[in-house]
Amino acid sequence: MRLVRAGRPGAERPGVLDAVGRVRDLSWLTADIDGDFLSDPQRLAAARDALGGDRLAVVAAPGRLGAPVARPGKIVGIGLNYADHAAEAGVTPPEEPVVFLKASSTVVGPHDDLVLPGRSTHTDWEVELGVVVGTTLSGCSDPRAALAAVAGYVAVNDVTERAHAASGPTWAKGKCHDTFCPTGPWLLTADELPDPQHLGLGLWVNGTQQQRSSTAEMVFGVGELLAYVSGLMTLEPGDLLITGTPGGVANGRPEPKPFLRPGDVVELEVEGLGRQRTVVTAGRVAAGETVEAHDDERREPA
Ligand code: ZN
Repeated sequence: MRLVRAGRPGAERPGVLDAVGRVRDLSWLTADIDGDFLSDPQRLAAARDALGGDRLAVVAAPGRLGAPVARPGKIVGIGLNYADHAAEAGVTPPEEPVVFLKASSTVVGPHDDLVLPGRSTHTDWEVELGVVVGTTLSGCSDPRAALAAVAGYVAVNDVTERAHAASGPTWAKGKCHDTFCPTGPWLLTADELPDPQHLGLGLWVNGTQQQRSSTAEMVFGVGELLAYVSGLMTLEPGDLLITGTPGGVANGRPEPKPFLRPGDVVELEVEGLGRQRTVVTAGRVAAGETVEAHDDERREPA
């Protein structure tokens, strides 16, 4: 199933896309697409049966799509999980997964604006496969068993402010700005994607392709990552694991690097998980702050 949440921010209603892309209502079955629902096999089966039997009402005007999973308890990020991205970052691929946390408040819908932090001149894109946890996972050492805990998969842009990320001993300052995790458009349930390691990934800025890869290129696969992280912390239903980005980010380019600027349009796609389109907008600058000027010679507008 392709699960969605549609409606105003904070007031999204649960639904599922039918074969022709219409939103069908699931609000009779669950209040939201969240960890509670995603860990309940009976309600998931009821939704599947009702969709298959054409018994779900069509939502006439679904409006905006939100992230397809309600605010995750936590977002666990994996760094440098594609060899070409590690190379462009000037490091060798890690021998153990690089793990970081990203604030849950970063999550927005797949077509919402991406708001630059007030003084940002180094905001960068990262197309990634997102993994939503369906059953509690703790201390699991078997990658195949860990994979069985997945509720479903989503497309994610792990937006990162490189200068902020590099300005301390952790990346948190660059990973956690509001709107820095466009997610969706839909969550594809894991029963329809038994092997997540053969998905194409792509990202475009103003129509020009910047990233193109496959999840087959991951250093550590999804099952390995889940097992590894479950040895560090309990993964709970609704949590989101983002599995790293392939090469092709702005920071990996020669100077002048083409970081995002107001008006840029970022589109990304993960095979089977839909396509995002976000517009970059200027954030508010606090009184007394100076905005660093963007170098207009960096990139010709498309
Ligand atoms: Zn990332």
